[in-house]
Amino acid sequence: MKFNPLNDLFDLLFPDLCVVCGNNLLKNEQHICAICLHNIPKTNFHLIKDNPIEKRFWGKVPVFRATAFFFFQKGSPFQKVLHSLKYKGNKEIGETLGKYAAVDLLDSPDFESVDVIIPVPLHPQKYKLRGYNQSELIGSGLSVILGKPQDTNSLVRLYENTTQTKKNVYERYENTDGIFKLSDIETLKGKHVLLVDDVLTTGSTLEACLKALLAVDGIRISVFTLAVA
Ligand SMILES: [Zn+2]
Repeated sequence: MKFNPLNDLFDLLFPDLCVVCGNNLLKNEQHICAICLHNIPKTNFHLIKDNPIEKRFWGKVPVFRATAFFFFQKGSPFQKVLHSLKYKGNKEIGETLGKYAAVDLLDSPDFESVDVIIPVPLHPQKYKLRGYNQSELIGSGLSVILGKPQDTNSLVRLYENTTQTKKNVYERYENTDGIFKLSDIETLKGKHVLLVDDVLTTGSTLEACLKALLAVDGIRISVFTLAVA
């Protein structure tokens, strides 16, 4: 690289910081320092069949496999990753973490056999407001490493469940039913779909997506979220 004193001065004044611990990042680190990356509380559920995330869907909707990259608790330093991605416009961190997670997923033949990645869509109005879909960014990272395409057209969100946080779990469930539809059921026929979201809390949004996708003949659906509460 050409020597540029202004660049070096800029780096000195505004160094990139780890989103988790706030320490300065080294040149080869992106968004998260090596120590925090090492300390991420990974679930490793991709290696465990009938894991606790899969059990959450039992009796509700059929999923082939389900996993999350890491556990998070309210107030834990790793919550900052999600906050940075969703509310601070840190788009790159979504793709970066998607890539890290996908490297692990390659250890599981079940996840390696995915044909297409579908992120949980935002309503077009919300997409416009935020400027990006955080789940799609994670999906992009997965797509690069798994070598599978991402489909952002087939699953459509009809409206936003914005009042969700004020409702109890039962009402939330009711509230998400039927908010997604398929724009096209032909292209996904017989495919293994990896449905992607940023965080798994009640699971009601994912369930609503799964229900819409299950209208496709011969479809098999697995679920990936970056974090699980
Ligand atoms: Zn750190």
